[in-house]
Amino acid sequence: MRRSGLRPRVPVVGRSAIYHSGYGRLVPWEETFDRVGGLFRLNNRLAEGLCMCGIVGYIGTKPAQSYLLEGLKRLEYRGYDSAGIATIENGKLTVIRSVGRVSNLEDKLEDSGGLRGTLGMCHTRWATHGGVTEFNAHPHVDDKNGIAVVHNGIIENYAALKTYLEDKGHVFKSQTDTEVLAMLIGELYDGDLEKAVQSALREVTGAYAIVVMCEKEPNV
Ligand code: GLU
Repeated sequence: MRRSGLRPRVPVVGRSAIYHSGYGRLVPWEETFDRVGGLFRLNNRLAEGLCMCGIVGYIGTKPAQSYLLEGLKRLEYRGYDSAGIATIENGKLTVIRSVGRVSNLEDKLEDSGGLRGTLGMCHTRWATHGGVTEFNAHPHVDDKNGIAVVHNGIIENYAALKTYLEDKGHVFKSQTDTEVLAMLIGELYDGDLEKAVQSALREVTGAYAIVVMCEKEPNV
């Protein structure tokens, strides 16, 4: 793989890894996310500068779902085409996604009985790579380790990375640049999520904010 030369700063917030490449420079997480209680939310300046999607995360002791949905609703005004949510409960990652309004996602969650994990993240997508479909909605997961990624921005060298990963046997389910990043983190994962994320981002060029969770390391 080509080395991008990017050297991310230490990216950990609480128990989730968060990075932002900003406008050609790496931005510390404090400038990227506003913290509101247990929630962290991509701040307006960066969200409006990059594109209009939204990211919300929750780390706490109560079920994350209602806090995450509330956060997404507050970000709806930015515009989006689809939405999704992931939580980890008893070491199991669950992802639910839907095209259209956050209320569609809510309906789907209700139909499925809801999520009870106390660690979670959610996303409203403004498609740049791949059409507006449920498969292309975030979060995206790797195919081995229960690693989920939500992403705001663009992975510019996703095509080369995808070819590299396909050659290694990974099968993609979406047309997005984001799934490439999830697979790459999974490919590089050897039991240390933070290390895998840092290694993956060294291979990536583009502008991005991401949140990553791993069911094997819910405490990271
Ligand atoms: N490039 C990603 C996609 O098309 C993320 C878009 C966004 O920032 O919402 O899924």
